[in-house]
Amino acid sequence: METILHVENVERTYTIGKTTLEVLKGVSLEIKAGETVAIMGESGSGKSTLLHVMGGLDNPKAGTVHFQGQSVYGMSSARRSRFRAENVGFVFQSFHLLPELDILENVALPAMALRKAGDAKARAAELLAEVGLADRIGHRPQELSGGEQQRAALARALMNEPDIIFTDEPTGNLDSNTGDKVLHYLFQLVENRGHTLVLVTHSKDVAARCARQLILKDGVLM
Ligand code: ADP
Ligand code: MG
Repeated sequence: METILHVENVERTYTIGKTTLEVLKGVSLEIKAGETVAIMGESGSGKSTLLHVMGGLDNPKAGTVHFQGQSVYGMSSARRSRFRAENVGFVFQSFHLLPELDILENVALPAMALRKAGDAKARAAELLAEVGLADRIGHRPQELSGGEQQRAALARALMNEPDIIFTDEPTGNLDSNTGDKVLHYLFQLVENRGHTLVLVTHSKDVAARCARQLILKDGVLM
């Protein structure tokens, strides 16, 4: 299978005052198109940092990230923003839905710059139906439960048909039943469309749903 994402010798440090924290100390990995990969590790091990570097959100101190052969941090930041909008979907632990917009508008939003508004809303409605929220499209995020908000966030992440989806502890703010339901929809969407998925979690059970499991420890992947 074709390599979609190639991370080579990535290093990332945080400097706070006189202290420098070496979080990633030479991380390398290759992800094939259509793969599902879990990244595990203890709290503070650098999972979120790595996900942000992989997704084009955080320029590493050293090393490279190539997406379909293109250097993500070799691009101008304007090109990189467009690259993210067109190719990458993110789902975070907190849902990041905009309270002043209804669910349909929240999901359609990433596509408003790339498609006609009518087409964007039609696709948003289809995706919301797929995550079981067809009857909630006119509601504001705050009128939905946590699990429903995360399902809306899943639909939003898929809006632009991204080649790769990054999820950072997507069930971390949910109780286990609600979390299971979100994971059910996530894996169903990913399987139906053949998306590539990188899932960060500290849970073995959640990681076991992915085809490959990696552990981030002492700044490197095992
Ligand atoms: P994880 O997601 O595995 O819990 P993170 O990637 O969030 O780990 O953080 C890794 C380490 O880097 C932690 O010790 C954290 O405190 C530190 N860290 C993360 N972001 C910053 C930042 N913006 N400034 C300083 N330190 C940070
Ligand atoms: Mg984290």
